[in-house]
Amino acid sequence: MCARAAIPAEKRLAASPVPRTGKNLAAFRRALLRWYDRHRRDLPWRKTCDPYRIWLSEIMLQQTRVAAVLEHYRIFLERFPSVEALAAAPEDAVLTAWSGLGYYRRARMLRQCAQELVQNHGGRFPDRAEALRTLPGIGRYTAAAIASIVFEEPTAVVDGNVERVVQRLQGRDLTDQQIWQQAQSFLNTSRPGDFNQSMMELGATVCLPRDPKCPTCPVRKWCVTEQSRPSANRTITMERRASSPGGTLTPSSSRQVKKEIWCVLNQRDGYIRLVQRPRDSSLMPGMWELPQLSRKPHRTTPSAPWRTFRHSITRTDFTVHVHAGRAAAAKGKWIPVASIVGLPITGLTRKILKAAAII
Ligand code: SF4
Repeated sequence: MCARAAIPAEKRLAASPVPRTGKNLAAFRRALLRWYDRHRRDLPWRKTCDPYRIWLSEIMLQQTRVAAVLEHYRIFLERFPSVEALAAAPEDAVLTAWSGLGYYRRARMLRQCAQELVQNHGGRFPDRAEALRTLPGIGRYTAAAIASIVFEEPTAVVDGNVERVVQRLQGRDLTDQQIWQQAQSFLNTSRPGDFNQSMMELGATVCLPRDPKCPTCPVRKWCVTEQSRPSANRTITMERRASSPGGTLTPSSSRQVKKEIWCVLNQRDGYIRLVQRPRDSSLMPGMWELPQLSRKPHRTTPSAPWRTFRHSITRTDFTVHVHAGRAAAAKGKWIPVASIVGLPITGLTRKILKAAAII
């Protein structure tokens, strides 16, 4: 149910508590920052002002949960501790370090951006959002995040969390432009990086999509949605408009496609059969995976799958039946198991090989 439908217009307009100017706005900012200072999660990228590390965390966190990013972030930095190291690395090595995070285009753009920084910027990040946006793979959100967190530029960020918080505070749907404007007007310009992170943290830990924890929210007294609720126990769900750039949270637009696939785990004498995806594939180009069967195996192949996995890639939920055997021996290449660690393999393949104790 969207907030516009949930809150009668006359109620919204009658007594909007949203902070707009002066002391009220200052009190709102103070309350949010005080909460952030006390309750923010202890995350590694919050202990640094190194633009390389902040940038890496922002790219990794796009469409990926914090818990999944933590280990990859650590390993990636061990392998590529600087912009220069990343720029000099072969693409396969970067994809290998990225393996498991999905959306591999991010890894390719990361390397491309590092090369651009080394070749044309002396290995240094520009300190303004506008200049950061000219770099490969850095859009409006990432540029604002780096500029505000690292260089204290007073520019607001809007990600899915901020968008939800802003719309709920206002108690109505806003256009993308209105959301960015509102986020900018909320911004505490003396601590822009922390303020931006406090808005994102609020959305990630308190103002949750399906079950906002309003009783513990530090800005509830400024929130139209909260103050218009008929009951303290009511669950608020806020739809994002399908037209918004990241508009993927609307129940109707987040509906997943279901697919069933069959693949073969074929190994012998320390080798395993893998196929490489086409270099021009739109999804995970050039990565290695187990050979797939075009349809459910016939009775002449091992009929019962060794294991069945569930795996999601973008909007598709796969049910993956893995058959042990030689059904697809003709496809792909024999790869020494010992060299898999240096090979860019898909997240699904990694999951299967781990379950089989092969890696
Ligand atoms: S009071 Fe509730 S709905 Fe409003 S911003 Fe806080 S958590 Fe979100």
